Amino acid sequence: MSNDRSLVPGLVKGMATTARQMMRPPHTAEYPDVAPELPARSRGVIALVESNCTSCMLCARECPDWCIHIDSHKEEVPPASEAGRARQRNVLDRFDIDFSLCMYCGICIEVCPFDALFWSPQFEYAETDIRDLLHDKARLGQWAADVPAPPELDQGAAEAPEVAAANKPARKGRR
Ligand code: SF4
Ligand code: SF4
Repeated sequence: MSNDRSLVPGLVKGMATTARQMMRPPHTAEYPDVAPELPARSRGVIALVESNCTSCMLCARECPDWCIHIDSHKEEVPPASEAGRARQRNVLDRFDIDFSLCMYCGICIEVCPFDALFWSPQFEYAETDIRDLLHDKARLGQWAADVPAPPELDQGAAEAPEVAAANKPARKGRR
């Protein structure tokens, strides 16, 4: 009998906890019916802005998983005027990232000196065949549409040097 009485407070406490939980909204994520609200800068997939890439290979060399594959060839750019000289530039033939190996560390994005790689929050690219996780430059380029715009500068902050350089008026040619 005394044992039954000592059970009552615990039982009441348990019922109170159950009642409290029933009043709370459920935490169930109803994905894929309801898209999750992810932070804008989530590491979903890597986007490539091909026009910025100079095939310098820095990202491929720094990638700890060796999952970036780049091929390029050199092309001659004719001089702008008769007095000028022809230049050589790299043309990107292949830029693949194997997302079955990638560990989403972001090193490639950090080291790219030419702002050619960005995080996109898009994560819906699961595949049934692991080989399809190799994204080529066309596919990596498509992710660029989902890359969020950079945050506004703080009030009074100096303009980024590359933006200031791009906005500088062109120098007039010598007479
Ligand atoms: S995020 Fe890391 S592992 Fe993935 S491609 Fe970039 S450097 Fe390699
Ligand atoms: S993405 Fe950046 S680091 Fe990688 S090859 Fe292109 S320019 Fe170089």
